[in-house]
Parts: sequence; structure tokens; C-alpha cells
Amino acid sequence: MSLIQQTFADLFHLLFPRNCNACGTPLFYGERTICTKCLHDLPFTDFHLYPENPAARIFWGRIPIHQVIALLHFKKGTRVQQLIHQLKYKGQTDIGFLLGKMIGERMLLSDQRPDLIVPIPLHQKKQYSRGYNQSQFIAAGIAHILKSPIHTKLLTRKINTATQTKKSRYNRFENIKDAFEINRLPDLKNLHILLVDDILTTGATFEACGKLLLDNGLNKLSIATLAYAE
Ligand SMILES: [Zn+2]
Repeated sequence: MSLIQQTFADLFHLLFPRNCNACGTPLFYGERTICTKCLHDLPFTDFHLYPENPAARIFWGRIPIHQVIALLHFKKGTRVQQLIHQLKYKGQTDIGFLLGKMIGERMLLSDQRPDLIVPIPLHQKKQYSRGYNQSQFIAAGIAHILKSPIHTKLLTRKINTATQTKKSRYNRFENIKDAFEINRLPDLKNLHILLVDDILTTGATFEACGKLLLDNGLNKLSIATLAYAE
């Protein structure tokens, strides 16, 4: 960076300080998206070190999954909830990219490199009103590290399901199991696909998409999510 560019960047930061997306305090010069203290204090799960982690166990007896990575523990009223809220509803897509890179780094450590990264699609109406699909930014962060391609046209959400939060696990799956369809069917039998979403709760959405892909011949399925709600 030239001296003029540096001076301009310093001045811009001075005039338009940005706040940490997790705690809301102004970022120091050189910090981006999340302040150093919040990054240090985030509740990382380290699930990539334990194949039989609690997030993976959600899918036992439902669909076979090669690896389940959830980067952070999710609890209400915490900085993780704030980050996901900012990512989903406030246009702070940098959060998805930043945390997605952290997922990618953990997958590299466990020597995992999927052939395709597929963000869970939103229904067209929801994507139109929100303006973006937050999971695509998480996928982009993962892809940046793993150098695997992203496929956003493989799946479509054909039913705009109502909010799932008050339903039981069985009812959630019943509600969503026919919500997706495959658009163009590549030969899935030699592929390892990584499905990506922002949060894992009952796993109903992942199960619906994963079952569809596996029923159509997919060889290997993994799952990555920013947060795991116990
Ligand atoms: Zn902070």
C-alpha cells in the first residue's frame, strides 16, 4: 500500500469507524468484522477433532454422514447469536466469509477436501426479500481455503416452509422432507459433497437435502455449519 493509500485508509477509518459484529464496540484499526477479543473468546467446538461429536450424533440412524463440522456452540443471548443475526438479517455477509474460512482451515487439518460445496438453498421468495443467501457466503469462505468449487444450482427449495422453531424433530422433518429438488443431476456416485448452512438444530433441513442426494446415488456426504444449538 502506498503512503497516500495508507493515509486515505487511516482517515476513512477515523471518519467511519465500524463496530464489532459480535459485541458492538468500535473496531481498532486493522480489525475487521469481529474484534480481536471476541474472536479469542468465541466458543469453538473443536468438533473437527472428534468424528463422533454431538453434532454428528444427531444424524445417527437417520442418514450416513462422513463428517459433521459445527464451528461454534450456539446459545441464546450470546455473541454467537448476535453474529448469526447480523449475518442473516443485517447484510453483514463478511461474517459468513470469515467464519467459513475458519471451517475450511479445520477441514484441512482433518484432511477433508470435498469435490463440491453446496449451500442449502433458500426459497426464491425468501432469497428475493433478503437479497442474499447467507449460506453462500459461508460456502465461499470454506471454498477459499479448500479450493473446492461451489455449486449453487444443484438444489432448489421448492416449498417455502413456515418457521420451524416450534416443531418437534419428527414434525420438522415431516414439514421439510419434500421441500427440495435436484435440478441438474450430475453423476453423484464418485462425489463427496459438503452441505453448508448457518445453524444446526434438529438437522431436519440437512436430512432432507442429504437424503435426496444420497437417494440419487451420492457417494459421500459431509455437513458444515457455523453453529450447533444443543
Ligand atoms: Zn467484539
